[in-house]
Amino acid sequence: MTYIKKAVRHRARQAGYKRIDTPMFENRAIFERGIGEHTDIVEKELFMVNSKQKSDEKSEFALRPELTASICRSYIEHGMQQLPQPVELYAIGPCFRHDRPQKGRYRQFHQYDFEIIGLRDPSLDAQLIHVVRMVLDDLKILSRLRLQINNIGTAENRVAYIEALKDFFVGKERNLPELDQKRLGTNPLRLLDSKEEDTQILLKSAPKLDQFLDDESREYHATVLDYLEGLGIKYEENETLVRGLDYYTQTVFEYWDENTGAQNAIGGGGRYDPLIEMLGGKETPAIGFAGGMERTAWQMKQAGVMPPDKDQMDVFVAQLGPEAKRTCLDLIAKLRNKGVHTIGALGEASLKSQMRLADKFNAKYTLLLGQVEVKEGVIILRDMAAGKQRKIPYDKAVPEIIKLIGQKNLDTYTIKDHLGE
Ligand code: AMP
Repeated sequence: MTYIKKAVRHRARQAGYKRIDTPMFENRAIFERGIGEHTDIVEKELFMVNSKQKSDEKSEFALRPELTASICRSYIEHGMQQLPQPVELYAIGPCFRHDRPQKGRYRQFHQYDFEIIGLRDPSLDAQLIHVVRMVLDDLKILSRLRLQINNIGTAENRVAYIEALKDFFVGKERNLPELDQKRLGTNPLRLLDSKEEDTQILLKSAPKLDQFLDDESREYHATVLDYLEGLGIKYEENETLVRGLDYYTQTVFEYWDENTGAQNAIGGGGRYDPLIEMLGGKETPAIGFAGGMERTAWQMKQAGVMPPDKDQMDVFVAQLGPEAKRTCLDLIAKLRNKGVHTIGALGEASLKSQMRLADKFNAKYTLLLGQVEVKEGVIILRDMAAGKQRKIPYDKAVPEIIKLIGQKNLDTYTIKDHLGE
């Protein structure tokens, strides 16, 4: 998870995205209006937040099921339209959906999210996809995934198409599975990505969304694809890809597992030009992408990718006797401060069992300090892999360890930033 976060942050920074953290819960209307009342996410999966005093009332708040609606709420509330446009934001954090937990589907999961708000241009769609691609490439899973892309037109195009779709199904409703019959009434577009075979068979002779797109949408789509080709990005056009949410217009895309497809999508996104206005802001075009961290990590595991282990223990300090214990607390603190991963003084165990512990913690070196060593002003330094030890002056312990580990391997993340200097 840490490595994914780093890759996201790194690629986001290179492309000028700034980090945003919105609250874990919002006024439920933000999600209902933004995502759409007749989507699975809002209809079935929203976790409501109640206070103890008001537990009988309809709750005002809900845990966020995704990040986009909150980020747009924040864009409006904090006057981000005053900033140079587009505003590029990225976010990483937990999201919540009440669903039956299963592999790849959890009630609390994590998303990484990129948003470009305030400008509409096909080059931004292509650039967003490029940033996501760089992240997936960094994580060594790009070759396992396939980019699916579609253009679902403007809201007006879709209204016309939905009418045609409803007309088509008149008299055929009874051939649809129950869930899809319901969807036909509430959110007919969802039929397109229905997993039901009967629905898919009927859809073969139904009108296609593509036929209802206006010229501008077609041109927009062609330009996005042309830019993607220019960037060397492979894609598959997928006319059934609609994404479940109400706020999408024009470009929609998803990254699918090359074998299991939509079921295991690692992430998806698209253009959502009407959303900010729906939430009470000025008309503001935008596009975004959300990736699932757990599914990304799963792909990395499948690909045999091993992120570097940054938690390796460098030094275990073993001690015996009250004086040695007191002295080694200072030594441990000094080593840690220099960037050496150090543990020790964990309890009252014998030297022998402390050595065993050092082995179990996989420490590279052990420093041993007993009563005798304290008196003599020395300490025993043991190389765990070589199984060899030697006595050195106590004062030389820190520089000697640093020499052995190597200056470049010290963990000095915060020290390197020189805060306040
Ligand atoms: P969505 O916008 O619903 O397509 O979600 C974007 C991505 O978040 C998906 O492609 C998944 O990778 C991830 N995701 C969505 N819901 C869940 C969940 N319940 N558990 C784990 N990951 C999820």
